[in-house]
Amino acid sequence: MTTFPIDETAPPALDPARFRRLAHAAVDLVADYLAGVRAGPVFQPMTAGERAALMQEPLGKRGIGPEALLERFRTAVLPHAMGNGHPRFFGWVNSPPAPVGVLADFLAAALNPSCAGGDHAAIYVERAAVRWLMELIGFPTEGSMGLLASGGSTATLVALAAARHRAAADDGWNVRTDGLQRARPRLRIYVTQDAHSCIHKAAEILGLGVEAIHRVATDDDHRLDVGALRAAVAADRAAGERPFCVAASAGTVSTGVIDPLAELADLCAAERLWLHVDGAYGAVGAAVPTHRARYAGLERADSVVLDPHKWLSVPVECGAVLVRDGDLLRRAFSLVPDYLRTEIDRGFGGLPWYSEYGIQQTRGFRALKLWMTLQHLGRDGVSDLIARHLTLARHLAALVDAAPDLERLAAVELSIVCFRYAPARLRADDGALDRLNKRVMEDVQISGAAFLTQTTLRGRFALRACILHYATMEADIVALVDAVRDTGARLAAG
Ligand SMILES: *Cc1c(COP(=O)(O)O)cnc(C)c1O
Repeated sequence: MTTFPIDETAPPALDPARFRRLAHAAVDLVADYLAGVRAGPVFQPMTAGERAALMQEPLGKRGIGPEALLERFRTAVLPHAMGNGHPRFFGWVNSPPAPVGVLADFLAAALNPSCAGGDHAAIYVERAAVRWLMELIGFPTEGSMGLLASGGSTATLVALAAARHRAAADDGWNVRTDGLQRARPRLRIYVTQDAHSCIHKAAEILGLGVEAIHRVATDDDHRLDVGALRAAVAADRAAGERPFCVAASAGTVSTGVIDPLAELADLCAAERLWLHVDGAYGAVGAAVPTHRARYAGLERADSVVLDPHKWLSVPVECGAVLVRDGDLLRRAFSLVPDYLRTEIDRGFGGLPWYSEYGIQQTRGFRALKLWMTLQHLGRDGVSDLIARHLTLARHLAALVDAAPDLERLAAVELSIVCFRYAPARLRADDGALDRLNKRVMEDVQISGAAFLTQTTLRGRFALRACILHYATMEADIVALVDAVRDTGARLAAG
């Protein structure tokens, strides 16, 4: 037998002393960065040269020392962060990373388990963290099952696959063996126009097709109109179609509206429809005692999606899917190849594996950052964090309402505020205001003073500010309003 000499310090190995030095340097870099975020611009666009330097860089034939790599990160990557770490970043529902979550990702990478399943700590950490999520929002823990996913989109795919599986089983066929190739009544899913695009993507991927999606009317506040839904379901049944799922929102991505979940739960129970609740952004609002009543009915959902990487500040990627009937979820996904077959509590077996409940086989240790962030906060900390953002959003709404040149475009239910710059002389001209506000948004983004994004509401361009940074203060809200008004006034004059 020939053996090869191994240099224990050759890449990817690192001499332990050198690793320790590098890790300390990395920690210093990160600590300085986090401490200095507020003083810098929110966002800095990249020059063509900077983009090319990263995109077109060839991979060298020989490796580079990690000290040089750290330096390259410091000069080429760090200065061009997305911006969501800044307390004046109000764009989308992208939160800053909770500092303990940053540490957790480092620790998780050091262990690097696959959380497909087995009898190791990471699995039980995920069990606990997911149960805490259920408890925080009032979702039943007994008999249900939940798991972490890359985000709301994949979590939704898992939930709707379970819904599809149940519908087929109810009708006496198995979608996993038959697929959707045979002629059968069309499965239909009900949403509002404000449903997140991930529902549409899931419908496409699941072979339902976008035409399976029945858009139901909303009331003046953008909430799903239950009467319209009842009529739509009846009409579809009369036409020989197969209604199977209502995908409601607990915090729409556009305005943060919560659909009437209790009424929907009643209707879904009566019609045996799967009630899916997309709470990717907003479900954790149910952790605030004064807000809990708005979520009544959530506890009767068949599935809920929520994204700890949104309002809970767990570093991306961390989404979660909660399913009321855990056994059903397993039937929808379990596929165990011989080389992975284990017995419960024998050898490496442990509990039924996570890989039997979802799409992924190898699964990262996402749970650690959720587990640590939730424990750092505690139940009161979660509630206080969310409540503070609810208050700041109402404050922003009040500032908008008080400003003669601003117009609010939607009610504020959670921490999203939609408005536009609308000086009196342009109020009647939606076209002009659409164009003006798009430029206001772009100029504010480039300015680095604050950052907000857009949505379309009743056909009108709206500036959209999402408040979910743990360090955002009243002064930051004022700065945002000033930035919009100053920019608007300058552009309207020019
Ligand atoms: C963000 C979001 C999603 C999609 O989740 P990802 O984590 O981006 O995949 C779905 N629904 C709502 C309401 C969202 O805010």
